[in-house]
Amino acid sequence: NHLFDLVRANLPADPAGKTFIETGEGARFTYADLVARSGAYAASLVGLGVKPGDRVAVQAEKSPEFLFLYLGAVRAGAVFLPLNTAYTAPEIAYFLGDAEPALFVCDPGKREALEAVAKAAGVAQVRTLDAAGRGSMAEAADAEAQDFADVARGPDDLAAILYTSGTTGRSKGAMLTHENLASNARTLAQAWRFTADDVLIHALPVFHTHGLFVATNVILVTGGTLLFLAKFDAAQVLRLMPRATAMMGVPTFYTRLLKEPGLDADVTKTIRLFVSGSAPLLAETHRDWQARTGHAILERYGMTETNMNTSNPYEGARVAGTVGPALPGVAVRVVDPETGATLGTDAVGMIEVKGANVFQGYWRMPEKTAAEFKADGFFITGDLGKIDREGYVHIVGRGKDLIITGGYNVYPKEVENEIDALPGVVESAVIGVPHADFGEGVTAVVVAREGAPDEATILRTLEARLARYKCPKRVLFVDELPRNAMGKVQKNVLRDIHGKLYG
Ligand code: ATP
Ligand code: MG
Repeated sequence: NHLFDLVRANLPADPAGKTFIETGEGARFTYADLVARSGAYAASLVGLGVKPGDRVAVQAEKSPEFLFLYLGAVRAGAVFLPLNTAYTAPEIAYFLGDAEPALFVCDPGKREALEAVAKAAGVAQVRTLDAAGRGSMAEAADAEAQDFADVARGPDDLAAILYTSGTTGRSKGAMLTHENLASNARTLAQAWRFTADDVLIHALPVFHTHGLFVATNVILVTGGTLLFLAKFDAAQVLRLMPRATAMMGVPTFYTRLLKEPGLDADVTKTIRLFVSGSAPLLAETHRDWQARTGHAILERYGMTETNMNTSNPYEGARVAGTVGPALPGVAVRVVDPETGATLGTDAVGMIEVKGANVFQGYWRMPEKTAAEFKADGFFITGDLGKIDREGYVHIVGRGKDLIITGGYNVYPKEVENEIDALPGVVESAVIGVPHADFGEGVTAVVVAREGAPDEATILRTLEARLARYKCPKRVLFVDELPRNAMGKVQKNVLRDIHGKLYG
């Protein structure tokens, strides 16, 4: 019961004749290459002293070799631990100190700075891997035989530790088992009807659950092909679209593609599925996409800790502004955060989930882990939402973003929806800013087009639509909202910038 057993069981009949990866530059790697190269990496890891259960930390640019190293680590019984390429040396110092990997693989360009960091953290070995998939790690694999016998692992053994995105605080290491990853790969491949005929546009980063697990594993367990792009470039994606059958992206991919004049029904006619996740997709983007291409984007909801929990249906209504019903094998409920009582239809509360997809806990944070799991095994996601009559989940925002002003709860999303509906408004973020009288003052940060209403007009309009306590005290205009690599709005950054607004 090994993640790689699932890959083996679903290998194409002629692995040397089937493309697993085609890069943006046109390089091809077959399923036979995948087995051979991941085997060579597994052998080299063992040679470097990596033992079952040891962490293999990797901060490297996206390349096919990165995926082969991931699978090599899994086959060697190690725990793969990818790190965001944006992390600086001091940040890497924290992660290496926390994870204590047996080996750290980094970009050759950063080796000098990071070797010292790794040494200070007690990491025994450092190797390199660059954007072209070369470096001392790749060379170590070159020297190995390719017929590695996988180290036996059980379903509950760790396959990976993935750090969360750090949107609400310091990133936490989520411990994911072989079964967590394998079960979700199977569920998603089935729910989204993936087959060996699929060609998936993959322009996501590979250090995050979306690009590393959702997109890659779904293809791996069905024998399809990845069009594997180093980064998201709207013009390039549009050029490749007629060769693909599916794309997975963050909402920013869709808003950027909508700015391309060439996006229409014709260029997307070979596509059977567009998937969005990692951050909320604006209902407006969903509508605009459907109007331009005829395709309804399928939005789903997941997190680093749980893999994917809910998804709009493949067949049936894909409802804009919702993340769909629970996936098969996943239980989702909404509870009153104070009493823990399960809430009924349309009542807003804390979203909790349970299933084979849910992680084992936070690495070296037993107290945090204990606090986030209920006695009956449900994991407290930290997201607020509701379940409607059709069983579709609506995410209302994050528990940590809830604004408490003068003793009243304000859900930012409700206010954002009203602001976004105003003519001339592109998008908005509503945050709580410390306020002497109210505790927190509701504050709107707005991206507007030319000719949008001014602050006074927006405030007046909102006062007619929202209860007084929900109305912003101030509206601030910005050119764009701060976002991270996954397209998530960084409200913590906004709260820092505007923290002194009310004195
Ligand atoms: P941290 O936990 O470190 O603060 P993070 O929660 O942003 O960071 P991830 O695990 O990458 O780290 O993101 C999971 C979160 O992303 C979910 O809890 C949810 O808030 C959000 N999310 C994912 N998909 C969707 C979606 N379709 N709609 C709205 N929010 C989503
Ligand atoms: Mg989180």
